[in-house]
Amino acid sequence: MFLLHLEARDFRNYRELHFEPHPSLNIVRGQNAQGKSNFIEALYYSLRGFSYRAAREVELIRWEKESALIKSIWRLVEGDPDLNIRTVVKPDRKEIQLNGRPVRRGELVNRTGVVLFTPEDLWLIKGGPEGRRRFLDRELGVFSAGYLEDLQQCRRALTQRNALLRQGGGSRAENELWTEQVCRYGARILSARLKLLRDYVPLACRLFNRWVGEDLNIRYQSSVVVNGADAGLLESNLAKATQHRKEEELRVGQTLSGPHRDDLQFLINGRDARSFASQGRQRAIILALKLAQVRFWQLRTGKQPVILLDDVLFELDAPRRQAVLEALEGEAQVFLTVGDAVFESVSEHKSFYVTDGNLREEG
Ligand code: ATP
Ligand code: MG
Repeated sequence: MFLLHLEARDFRNYRELHFEPHPSLNIVRGQNAQGKSNFIEALYYSLRGFSYRAAREVELIRWEKESALIKSIWRLVEGDPDLNIRTVVKPDRKEIQLNGRPVRRGELVNRTGVVLFTPEDLWLIKGGPEGRRRFLDRELGVFSAGYLEDLQQCRRALTQRNALLRQGGGSRAENELWTEQVCRYGARILSARLKLLRDYVPLACRLFNRWVGEDLNIRYQSSVVVNGADAGLLESNLAKATQHRKEEELRVGQTLSGPHRDDLQFLINGRDARSFASQGRQRAIILALKLAQVRFWQLRTGKQPVILLDDVLFELDAPRRQAVLEALEGEAQVFLTVGDAVFESVSEHKSFYVTDGNLREEG
């Protein structure tokens, strides 16, 4: 899919934005704090209905203004009708319309594909497990029907169950209800993650091996015994684990088994990348993960996702930067931001320059 037109009003520091992209490569340049990341955020927000960088959505509305508006038009597949997405952000709510019909944000996931790569992703290996779980949930979970709903249900049940644990366990009926829900939804998430990883991991590992010539292995580390990806079996494993840690859970006031405690481990030639891999190797892993996401979209949906790269290319060394550009060449529509430097791209593209929320095409 590709963007045909983007318009925004009072989004972050953009008063008015009208953007006519190139079908393949779009480069946005500018000095610090001028609106490059805001532009990438606007595209992502339009495609997903949430921001990956705003703590609260009111931050998206230009200061002193009542609401922000983003309109985007996408061509999904040649010959199909275009997709119009209109999003209004107000201080207390947002409204999303697809081709004039109000929808919930969850529906966007079924229609559009996007792969985002920001400097925060470079923490995926070194950072804490929440980041890796977010990766599983947000980036891979969208490929599994019902995943996001299961995740919501599981979170709700966990909140209730943890509250009971902190009050000494609650009544037996309450306790059983929420324990059962945690196990049911938790097992579904676990099962979906394992199935997704089965297909996704080889893609990432092959890319890594091709670039670096070393073996990458990605392992799912679970708080539950994992013997296959069958949800029913996992549910009973999760129930057993919970039963087993009953006393401990009451002591700490937290649910200790389930997908919310799990992690991903990255191994290069059998060694834990978190402790042993150089910064360059860690970046190569992340790059492989991201490009594998692009391939995953293509395989699962037969469509090209849109690729958003905020400031990451210059974090990579020249050969890897080249590898990214080559891997992306002709694959999908790319939007990338770079600093003020002139960007040495060889492929056909459009270049834009942004100053204080004004975006202009260059050349
Ligand atoms: P860098 O190169 O440092 O990453 P950038 O061009 O990516 O810079 P952005 O993050 O896109 O910068 O833009 C930051 C600018 O947007 C800041 O000047 C900030 O004050 C402004 N800004 C952020 N939110 C709003 C808002 N709601 N209303 C008006 N301006 C805002
Ligand atoms: Mg930025």
